[in-house]
Amino acid sequence: NRRWVLAERPKGEPNENTLRLETAPVPEPKQGEVLLATEFLSLDPYMRGRMSDAPSYAAPVEIGQPMVGGTVARVAKSNNPNFAEGDRVVSFSGWQDYAVSDGTGLNKLPAEMANPSWALGVLGMPGFTAWAGLREIGKPKPGETLVVGGATGPVGSTVGQIAKLQGLRAVGIAGGPEKCRHAVETLGFDACVDYKAESFAQDLARETPDGIDVYWENVGGAVFDAVLPRLNTAARIPLCGLISQYNATALPEGPDRMNWLMGQMLRKRITMRGFIIFDDFGHLYPEFAKEMGQWVADGKIAYREEMIEGLEQAPQAFVGLLRGEAFGKRVIRVA
Ligand code: NDP
Repeated sequence: NRRWVLAERPKGEPNENTLRLETAPVPEPKQGEVLLATEFLSLDPYMRGRMSDAPSYAAPVEIGQPMVGGTVARVAKSNNPNFAEGDRVVSFSGWQDYAVSDGTGLNKLPAEMANPSWALGVLGMPGFTAWAGLREIGKPKPGETLVVGGATGPVGSTVGQIAKLQGLRAVGIAGGPEKCRHAVETLGFDACVDYKAESFAQDLARETPDGIDVYWENVGGAVFDAVLPRLNTAARIPLCGLISQYNATALPEGPDRMNWLMGQMLRKRITMRGFIIFDDFGHLYPEFAKEMGQWVADGKIAYREEMIEGLEQAPQAFVGLLRGEAFGKRVIRVA
C-alpha cells in the first residue's frame, strides 16, 4: 500500500519536502468494514488548506498521516453486507492505493458508468458546488450577466454552462488565450477574458457592457480588483474560493482597501456570501445528482479532464494545479 503522507507543513508553495511516499501493509477490513482499492484520486485546491494548521472549516492533516482526498475506488474485500466485492464507490480514501472504510459516506456508482472519474468532477463535488452555489447564492435571472474566474476549471466551467442554460450572458476569466478559446468554443461562454493580458480590465469592461449581476469568485486577488468596479446594484457574489491566495504567506503590499470595498458593497447593495459546499448545501445533493446527470447525458454540459497516470505523480500535479497549469479537472489514475 503506497501512500503519500504529510511530512511537513509548507510555507508558501508545497515543495519536495512537503509529502513523503511510504509503503505500508495493505490494511485488513474488520467486521462491518470494506477494503477499498483506489482507482482515481481527485486533486482539488482545498488540499492546500489541509496541509496547513491555520484555523479553517476542517481539521488539518496531521504530520505523518496520509493526505486526504476524494477518490473513486473498487471494493476489494467486503465484511459489510451493504457492499459486495467489485462494487465501485466514491470514497474519501486519500492519496493511497488502499483504504479501509466502515461504509459511512461511501456513495455507490452504477455498475455501467461511461466515465467513473467524472464522479470526482462535474458529476461530483465540484459540479455540485457550481450547481448549488449558483442557485442558492447567485440567484441567476435570464438576461443578467454572470462573470466567473477559473472559467475552464471544474467549478468555473460548470457555473458558466449552467448560467447559459438559464439564459444569462456568461463571461469567463481564464489564464491565457488557449483556455479562453476553449471557454467560448467548447463550453459556450459568450466571451472569455485573459486576466494575464495587459488589457485585462478594459477587455472585461468591453465584454460586460451592462455590468455584472453575478460574480462567481474562485480566485480573488487581481481578478476581483478588476471585477468590483463593474458590479451592478444588487449584484450577488457566491464566494467559493480564492485560489490566487492559497500559497500566500502574507497580505499583499499596498494601501488597505477594505473601506473602499465596504463602501462599494454598501452603495451597490451587494450580497457576498461564502459557503462550504457540503456544510451549507449537502441536503440538495440528490436534486443535483438528478439534474446534472440528465444535463451531462443530454450533452448540455461539456467537461474536460486531465488524467495523470500514477500515484507517484500526485504531488507535482497538485503544485501545478495551484500554479494554474491544470487545463480542466486534474485526476490521478492510481490503478
Ligand atoms: P480549478 O481547476 O479552477 O483551479 C485551478 C485553476 O485556478 C487553475 O487552472 C488556474 O486557472 C486558476 N488559478 C490558479 N492560480 C491562480 C491565480 N493566481 N490567479 C487566478 N487564477 C488562478 O479548481 P476547481 O474548479 O476545483 O475550484 C475552483 C475554486 O473553487 C477554488 O478556489 C476552490 O478552492 C473552490 N472550491 C470551493 C468549494 C467550496 O465548498 N467553497 C468547493 C470546491 C471548490 P487559470 O489558468 O485560468 O488561471
